[in-house]
Amino acid sequence: MKNYQFNLSHPVFAQVARAAAELNLQTYAVGGFVRDQLLGRTCKDIDFVTVSPNSGNQQHGMELAQKTASYISTDLQVNYFKNFGTAQFRWQGYDVEFVGARKESYQRDSRKPIVENGTLQDDQNRRDFTINAMAVSMNAANFGELIDPFDGLEDLEKKLIRTPLDPDVTFSDDPLRMMRAIRFATQLGFTILPETFEAIKRNRERIKIISQERITDELNKIILAAKPSVGFVLLEESGLLEIIFPEFQQLKGVENYEGKGHKDNFFHTLQVLDNITKATNNLWLRWAAVLHDIAKPPTKKFIEGTGWTFHGHEVLGSKWVPKIFGRMKLPMGAEMKFVRKMVYLHLRPIALTKEEITDSALRRLLFEAGDDIESLLSLCEADITSKNREKVKRYLMKFEVVREKLKEVEEKDRVRNFQPPISGEFIMQYFGIKPGKEIGIIKEEIKEAILEGKIRNDIDEALQMMQKLGEKLGLKKM
Ligand code: ATP
Ligand code: MG
Repeated sequence: MKNYQFNLSHPVFAQVARAAAELNLQTYAVGGFVRDQLLGRTCKDIDFVTVSPNSGNQQHGMELAQKTASYISTDLQVNYFKNFGTAQFRWQGYDVEFVGARKESYQRDSRKPIVENGTLQDDQNRRDFTINAMAVSMNAANFGELIDPFDGLEDLEKKLIRTPLDPDVTFSDDPLRMMRAIRFATQLGFTILPETFEAIKRNRERIKIISQERITDELNKIILAAKPSVGFVLLEESGLLEIIFPEFQQLKGVENYEGKGHKDNFFHTLQVLDNITKATNNLWLRWAAVLHDIAKPPTKKFIEGTGWTFHGHEVLGSKWVPKIFGRMKLPMGAEMKFVRKMVYLHLRPIALTKEEITDSALRRLLFEAGDDIESLLSLCEADITSKNREKVKRYLMKFEVVREKLKEVEEKDRVRNFQPPISGEFIMQYFGIKPGKEIGIIKEEIKEAILEGKIRNDIDEALQMMQKLGEKLGLKKM
């Protein structure tokens, strides 16, 4: 007998049990909630499945939700999703969902199944992995008992992802499950059973029937895991990566010329991504790590005397960002622009460690990065990878110097959120002129002078400079 223990002390369980008894419905908590409890992970989503001795399970899911809610409070709002036959409410931070047990059968060209009434066993059969197919009874006779027809508990202990039925059928029926397998392996640190993984390889092309939004959801979950490289390696080995993210696939491999190879940019990028997980949980900064070198393959060149170069990969890469975000159905607003900017600027702080650091170079970087400077520095730090630990340490120390200097310059010159000390409005009034190219020229020259350190970022010095520039342009004070 294996050991397991459920914490069913949350009052929702007692209320569900009471409602189920009242309605004479066999009811179980099922799926992710059961898995996460056994793993000791917190889970705020609880799914209940209910089976009626008579027909009409779908309707019974809704009845059970209604009854349970009525015990909790008269004004608890229950939401019904007729198309899915589910009902849901939120209570005390929990998202509680009810559904009638179902049996599903699939057609080849769609992941939308034909749904029929089913037994608990039917319902467990249609679930994706053994660890997701366990149920806990809410029935008086055996409240709290685990119902585990596929030995999910054993797989949890062995840290295995395995389909309950023939994996070829499971994956072909709903190919999203291939992404889910890899996502769970990454999130939980589990291994995909070899037979299961072989079936993913065989069925990889079927991923094409899945909507991009669902695929991207899973990819984002992989990226947000503690060690995302695990997922990308599995995606690559399964052949899925080539289909869902060909640019990333292209990063793989090393070319040799005259005995000189370059870094494998696939593994380098994954190292950067794993590194950045220590600095941030922000999905977009993690995406910046994913994409920072994405345009290395087409910019690769071997130059005699220099070796391998990837000249301009940051510029081309930043141009690819909107294209990739669009295709992936990722948000095209501030999030995309942030990632594009990170990719564009990712070489700049490192370049500073290699030359004599001038204040003007620091001011320019602060000006261009603005409030995203901290994110950029985290990305660059994560980008320092080498097998040679000493080398990494040395670089990180140099990088610390850049950080310090940036701080000093920012305190002195406040260019991070640069606002020109003199506005276009002011220039027009001062010289009594209408909008025209002179205004742009004056503003740009003042900005350049400040960034170059020729004048300070202050109104008096800017005013003097404006007067001189005005004279040169033949303008007179009003
Ligand atoms: P998470 O909540 O972390 O995404 P989860 O396993 O709880 O993981 P949900 O999408 O919440 O995933 O689904 C709840 C349960 O429904 C799963 O545990 C599984 O039993 C079942 N399930 C979800 N998606 C599928 C699917 N595509 N195929 C089969 N069963 C699924
Ligand atoms: Mg869930």
